[in-house]
Amino acid sequence: MNLFEFENVITDFKPVLGLEVHVELNTKTKVFCSCPTNFGASPNTNVCPTCLGLPGSLPVLNEKAIESIIKIGLALNCQIAPWSRMARKNYFYPDMPKDYQISQYDEPICFDGFLDVLVPNGDDSSKIRIGIERVHLEEDTGKLTHAGGFTGRIHGADYSLVDYNRAGIPLVEIVTKIIPDTGELAPEVAKAYVATLRDLIRNLGVSDVRMEEGSLRCDVNVSLMPIESNQLGTRTETKNVNSLRSVERAVRFEMQRQAALLKAGERVKQETRHFHENDGSTSPGRSKEQAEEYRYFPEPDLLPIAPDSKWIEQLRSELPETPTAKRERLKQAWQITDFEMLAVVNAGALDLIEATVELGTDPSAARKWWLGKITRIANERGVELEQIDITPAQVAEIDQLVATGALNDKLARQVISSVIAGEGSPGEIVQKQGLAVVSDDSALLDAIKEAIVAMPEVVSKIQDGKLQASGALIGAVMKATGGKADAAKVRKLLFDYLGVSQD
Ligand code: ADP
Ligand code: MG
Ligand code: ZN
Repeated sequence: MNLFEFENVITDFKPVLGLEVHVELNTKTKVFCSCPTNFGASPNTNVCPTCLGLPGSLPVLNEKAIESIIKIGLALNCQIAPWSRMARKNYFYPDMPKDYQISQYDEPICFDGFLDVLVPNGDDSSKIRIGIERVHLEEDTGKLTHAGGFTGRIHGADYSLVDYNRAGIPLVEIVTKIIPDTGELAPEVAKAYVATLRDLIRNLGVSDVRMEEGSLRCDVNVSLMPIESNQLGTRTETKNVNSLRSVERAVRFEMQRQAALLKAGERVKQETRHFHENDGSTSPGRSKEQAEEYRYFPEPDLLPIAPDSKWIEQLRSELPETPTAKRERLKQAWQITDFEMLAVVNAGALDLIEATVELGTDPSAARKWWLGKITRIANERGVELEQIDITPAQVAEIDQLVATGALNDKLARQVISSVIAGEGSPGEIVQKQGLAVVSDDSALLDAIKEAIVAMPEVVSKIQDGKLQASGALIGAVMKATGGKADAAKVRKLLFDYLGVSQD
């Protein structure tokens, strides 16, 4: 497949985006029945006649789901419809027991809002306002497992299994308005939007928004407009992209692929596409249905939704701090710049650092550990920071060991790696691997004396007042102790021993 250079896409085309995010609500029961929603139950145990679509069963709307979606709508600055209806979307799929999905069509509960996101722009950051078209409620489908093949896909499988536990879990779909030309920032904008939305919803406490478990999924629409044109191009919709990094890569890839097609005089086909984690590419799915093919009609088994305006105002007054306000507050508290805050947010580290600081760690130290070693490990593995097996409490414990001088930074990074590798708690690892800093002065002094004997020329430089030459000696001592010495302490002992004043 031909790909156009990213830089050249921008000179010739304007990228247009549209993002559809599905969020599973964390209500205790399903949206139209009282089955539990817990993740990981044995297949087909959280089911009843309603969510199995058996004849004669009737749906009853879960009030908590309505409360949750209204909270999301309010947090996204949406209008809340005083009156709306659920709709039937008709199509066959084996994971959907009724052969129709109860969703919403032209009467969503929430509409016309916005969300501001920050994206890095050179050494600075840009604020971009993303318009929200609609936020609507629907039911999730069951889950198919294709068995017997090698790929887990239906092609080549011997048989398929279906688990209806997920059928009827409340889903909220959040659809953006068209996001007009953001130029080279487009991939970052898409990622920042999903990251900000995730933080906002997590803050509301209405979903655990775990992309890797599928409780937040994103469909990425991309099209290109020739630079001189004002007419929207044909879009593709890359389905179920399930990490922040993948959202960014999917946009980038589609921009490059579509540009290559258009440059070659070919057309972009309107279709859904699959994203491939291994190489960041997309491949064709199905050609896109038109809305009329779903034969939407108002769901006759459910009453319209008409939330009391007093209730809405009460929910509005109870909304937690917005992500923007939270960032501003923590930026002040941690005394960092906008740009530094952006790095924190884009690494997905805001909540983790906040939790670490709440445990008593100095903010700059907390940022150092999370954005340094731990982010590097997450990047190497191509996963999100929060998927890495280390908790704010463990990071706070490691930092405490550094603060008391039991570990230096290098050893601390080693302990971090070991905690992530599942080798135990920081305390246990320090014990088991003998990682503690050599604080025994006589052991350090022995190493210092050896270094002095080995490098007499360095010693005379120091004695001539060239204090910076001491680096070589300190380095030799660090090496001799396997990196387990506190460099500042070695420096002091060395100067005391040589009888040289440190300043
Ligand atoms: P569908 O049911 O086909 O997925 P939706 O209305 O739910 O349609 O979502 C379509 C998304 O794609 C919206 O975010 C919309 O703003 C966006 N979109 C529509 N047309 C284009 C286009 N030409 N290029 C990029 N995005 C588009
Ligand atoms: Mg859609
Ligand atoms: Zn049920």
